[in-house]
Amino acid sequence: MTKMAVPGNICQKNKCHHCCIETEMLLLKSDASRISKSTGIKTSNFSFMTKENQRMLKNKTTNDEKVCFFLEEKGRCSIYDIRPEGCTYYPIIWDLINQHAVTDDYCPYHEEFKEYIENIQSNLDKHPRHLLETCFGSERACHPF
Ligand code: SF4
Ligand code: SF4
Repeated sequence: MTKMAVPGNICQKNKCHHCCIETEMLLLKSDASRISKSTGIKTSNFSFMTKENQRMLKNKTTNDEKVCFFLEEKGRCSIYDIRPEGCTYYPIIWDLINQHAVTDDYCPYHEEFKEYIENIQSNLDKHPRHLLETCFGSERACHPF
């Protein structure tokens, strides 16, 4: 069964790639291996491990701005069809405190995604709790893994 993703047309309509700037996206092992296999780029080139042993996407510096390793000049994702699972759900993220999916107000258009929360929640529910609970501490909501 195909996994539910948030619709990309909201981002396109608003000409937005805000979440690909100084991105904080966790990667599943399956994300890292899929991207590496498909692009031929070593995992260590596009990701790094945190001290909590979570793998995250790297940023690169372009025009004095830190942007996702895979963001192209025109604001497009160069790996859109194989992007990390968390990117397919964003701006819907996991709220560690309330243990529920929410929209991240870092996204300027997050209100437009609220109607997709319940569907995405069912995807997030399939991930092991320990992965949900180790990301980003408890102060704020976090990306889904
Ligand atoms: S910040 Fe929100 S609207 Fe902008 S690209 Fe990300 S998800 Fe789409
Ligand atoms: S992988 Fe693509 S969608 Fe995800 S943060 Fe990077 S550029 Fe944006």
